Amino acid sequence: MHIQTRLIHAGEEQKIAGAVVTPIFQSATFTSKEGQGYDDIRYLRLNNTPNHNVLHAKLADICGGEAALVTGSGMAAITTALLALLKSGDHLLIQDCLYGGTHSFVSQDAPDLGISCDFIAGNAPETWAAKLKSETKAIYVETMSNPLLEVADLEAVVAFARAHGLLSLIDNTFASPCNFRPLEMGFDIELHSATKYLNGHSDIVAGAIVGAADHVGAIAHKLNRFGGSLDTHACFLLHRGLKTLSLRMRQHDENALQLAHMLAEDPQVVQVNYPGLQSHAQYDRAKRLFAGAGGVLSLELLGGVESAERLLAGLQLPESAPSLGGVETLITRPATTSHSSLSPEERAAIGVGDSLVRVACGIEATEDLCADFTQALAGV
Ligand SMILES: *Cc1c(COP(=O)(O)O)cnc(C)c1O
Repeated sequence: MHIQTRLIHAGEEQKIAGAVVTPIFQSATFTSKEGQGYDDIRYLRLNNTPNHNVLHAKLADICGGEAALVTGSGMAAITTALLALLKSGDHLLIQDCLYGGTHSFVSQDAPDLGISCDFIAGNAPETWAAKLKSETKAIYVETMSNPLLEVADLEAVVAFARAHGLLSLIDNTFASPCNFRPLEMGFDIELHSATKYLNGHSDIVAGAIVGAADHVGAIAHKLNRFGGSLDTHACFLLHRGLKTLSLRMRQHDENALQLAHMLAEDPQVVQVNYPGLQSHAQYDRAKRLFAGAGGVLSLELLGGVESAERLLAGLQLPESAPSLGGVETLITRPATTSHSSLSPEERAAIGVGDSLVRVACGIEATEDLCADFTQALAGV
């Protein structure tokens, strides 16, 4: 069946007390019987309440994985997965343009634990082999980079991992399983900040890990000890959000595509970064691999920082806030938010100019969103 149908029904074959919607199990612990072992214990931190179980079954189904695990945040998913799969002495190859929290973790925390890493350029697979070591265990990429929306050579990542016996991990937050299913392409582990599209309503933080049962099981054991579990009330909200993922993604994709086209035509706009535009360097790859190019785009205006500030001030619909994937359009200047810890020179080196504006399209009507940008650009 289609993902749109599976998002609604998968994992919920067993109705609990006849309830059409899985109720919230607001209970930290569950009764056990004499003779049961540790693995039978049900306890909220062990991520095995009925609310967790339906989510795990649904996520595994829609991503095409054997097993899934939800976590207390996207960063809990990423750090727990890496710490479960890598040990002291191991080496990791990881993409150079990363989500800030992931970048800080691999460059500041992982070395303290004896895990080293080297950064690789996602679009230069010919340079990766030179960075291999005998201790290299894994390769890690993101589906699209933030905020320039670069699409790494994902097929080459899978081939490289297979050729060198590495585990391949991908943060698929920006695409969601509706637009891209990495496990079907051969990635071993798919990670999500479920805070974003999976939940879709900007009202919880959560994470998800999907992959083979032995990998997910090993990560679950670490998570049980580290304690980054997802509360059942947040599980309920994530589950409710997931059911409309397919419908929401269609509108996110459409809004970003139409807005990107409109902005690309505007004489005040010097650059639009969106993988759904033919002008994008990896347009062909995005078209081949993705069902849609997602809801996030970035742009550069004539007139630099002042113009960017006037655009943000003149827009009525988008809220100025970090994050993405909710129903409302959010707008940021990465130089003052996600990339503010870098110097202007460091930002320039990675192509994140001080006047770059990132738009995370919500699911408002496309015409209203475009009309708002038209009126705001007129006042820039
Ligand atoms: C937001 C985000 C994360 C971190 O997720 P949290 O839920 O905030 O912990 C990781 N990766 C990407 C690509 C993100 O956008």
